[in-house]
Amino acid sequence: MIEVKGIHKAFGKNEVLKGVDVQVKKGEVVVILGPSGSGKTTLLRCINFLEKADSGEITIGETKVKFKHATKKEILCIRRKTAMVFQTYNLFNNKTVLENVKEGLITARKVPKKEAEEISRKMLDKVGLTDKYDAYPSQISGGQQQRVGIARALALNPEVILFDEPTSALDPELVGEVLTVMKKVAKEGITMVVVTHEMSFAYDIASRVIFMEGGVVVEEGTPKEIFQTPKEERTKQFLKRIVPDWNYTI
Ligand code: ADP
Ligand code: MG
Repeated sequence: MIEVKGIHKAFGKNEVLKGVDVQVKKGEVVVILGPSGSGKTTLLRCINFLEKADSGEITIGETKVKFKHATKKEILCIRRKTAMVFQTYNLFNNKTVLENVKEGLITARKVPKKEAEEISRKMLDKVGLTDKYDAYPSQISGGQQQRVGIARALALNPEVILFDEPTSALDPELVGEVLTVMKKVAKEGITMVVVTHEMSFAYDIASRVIFMEGGVVVEEGTPKEIFQTPKEERTKQFLKRIVPDWNYTI
């Protein structure tokens, strides 16, 4: 169980998160929707301590940490329980696919090399890249690169994987293969928080959907509630903008 309470974050005078609460139960897939600039990326980055929130607290399992006063040890502890899949993959271009997955295990988690390699191969097999261990990022497609990003996150065996618009940098024909892998991961019961604009994917895999705008959670519910019977006008407007022919009955 992950609980984020009362998270606030400002960049200078720009208040980006204005008191956001998020709860994710073990095995849940929580999808976060919202227009550009609503604070989705900032929220994920604060959860992972890539960004330091101004106030609020996070609980993951037994570990409860106040964002503002977190010690180095606490930050490390939360980081170990989370992994992030980025919009732009963030792979090392001078390392092979296998090395990219292995890297974090060896340096951050101190896993022995041989074991790290075994885990990495297994995760690359899982995302369908058995034949790409030795390729460099520039030699594979964007969809394959993002699947490496997912394998890298899985290898860390975190309590939750945070996905930040994992398919939005991809050519349309490559989106499907990444979504397929994410569905597979979700079915295995891995806890996921996913920021995405892929609505039918969200509808299919989400345990719960959170709609954010302007740094607050506007509405939250099951995919059916949010997509078919949204209560808030702002949610309705957003859905109409994203899916112009939206009829609330997928
Ligand atoms: P979203 O992911 O929903 O599009 P973001 O979290 O990326 O939203 O951004 C929310 C707001 O925070 C935007 O106004 C953006 O300009 C601002 N912002 C994000 N990161 C930074 C940063 N590192 N420095 C200053 N402003 C930032
Ligand atoms: Mg974003």
